Amino acid sequence: MSEHVNLAILGGGCAGLSLARALVDEAFSERVIIIEPRRSYRHDRTWCFWAEAAHAHSGTVSKCWQRWQVSTADQVIDHKGSRLSYQQIRSDDFYQACLATIADAPNFELRQGLHAETVSDHGNQVMVETEAGAISADFVIDTRPRPPHTDIAALWQVFSGAEVETEQPCFDPSTAGLMQNMTSDEGGLKFTYILPTSAHQALVQTTRFALTRCPPDRLDDEFRSDLNAMINGPVTLHRWERGCLPMGQMELWTGESPRIMRAGQAAGALRASSGYGFLRIQAWAEAVAWDLVRERTLVNHPPGSRIEQKMDAIFLAALTRSPQAASGWFASLADRLSADEFGRFMSQSPSLDLWLKVISALPKAPFIRALFNGFPEIDRANHRVAL
Ligand SMILES: Cc1cc2nc3c(=O)[nH]c(=O)nc-3n(C[C@H](O)[C@H](O)[C@H](O)COP(=O)(O)OP(=O)(O)OC[C@H]3O[C@@H](n4cnc5c(N)ncnc54)[C@H](O)[C@@H]3O)c2cc1C
Repeated sequence: MSEHVNLAILGGGCAGLSLARALVDEAFSERVIIIEPRRSYRHDRTWCFWAEAAHAHSGTVSKCWQRWQVSTADQVIDHKGSRLSYQQIRSDDFYQACLATIADAPNFELRQGLHAETVSDHGNQVMVETEAGAISADFVIDTRPRPPHTDIAALWQVFSGAEVETEQPCFDPSTAGLMQNMTSDEGGLKFTYILPTSAHQALVQTTRFALTRCPPDRLDDEFRSDLNAMINGPVTLHRWERGCLPMGQMELWTGESPRIMRAGQAAGALRASSGYGFLRIQAWAEAVAWDLVRERTLVNHPPGSRIEQKMDAIFLAALTRSPQAASGWFASLADRLSADEFGRFMSQSPSLDLWLKVISALPKAPFIRALFNGFPEIDRANHRVAL
């Protein structure tokens, strides 16, 4: 007989732990197991987003910037948020807060050092195979990453960088450098992301919005040379942070059955036009916990309103067809939107009013072409869209 649980959460990363925490907060009384390969959690990323001062996660926010900047070689746009600030949560603080909540709930178990392998629906229960044997569950929520060859997106946000410490004071800790020194060419948009925590310390990343997926460590040399150009004097690199995030994911996996649901980045949680996902994952986790406790049903990531889906698709189609124009478009957006509107556009679901402002800030011809030509075809051999 295999071990039985009511709910198996596959993956104890952002989505899996957020859901577990939300279920504990909702006093979910059934047996839950979280299967996670990592044997220990370390600080592996920082999550940033725009939010008002008080929210459900403000206790774990490590730094807020009321000001942020977007720049090209000949234009610097300064934003000062009025309701919204740009906020940072360190993953180690987030993981520890979730682990502490789960540890206090006797019906929850985080089983580390274990991989979920095949998952199959047997009618009244789901079987999850692991290297330590099978586990059966009434429901499975699967947050495991998609195998790279099945992950297709309009654009890839690829970044490599590190937490750096300088001997000379080099940073202005009051301002986040969101998209600094933007340039674009046939390969897409490039910029530097600078999150200063003091005059001597910052997370600095070289980022590209690229048409094809590539291993982020390919940007390591570019990051080092961008850093050298920016900093005078000795600099120490502490923790590296790299990623390759899908923007406008296609052929999303939803649940194969009413008992199995995909979630997190693998299920399209990231905002298509920007790659931000932390707040969307939190909203999804709260909605699933609410429904599981009251209705015993699973809720998929909300796909966004029809207008949001359509506008994101047009925006990304225009970007993929005119990659060389991207720096001008983002500069124009930052210039024409207020600070709060820019923040809402990047990390939340923009309203119709905001989309109209976005349209009015951008050149019309590429967007009209994108609207009428539809989205580029999927090029399966290269796991990308074909222009
Ligand atoms: C470096 C980085 C920085 C980011 N910064 C931001 C940001 O600033 N703001 C923002 O909004 N978004 C950001 N994102 C995007 C997004 O919010 C994160 O990727 C987020 O962690 C996605 O959550 P997730 O649970 O889907 O994936 P993850 O957090 O990656 O969790 C997936 C989990 O699945 C586990 N797993 C893998 N294989 C198996 C298996 N076989 N069985 C069981 N479990 C398995 C993994 O170990 C992992 O714990 C960032 C992403 C990265 C990579």
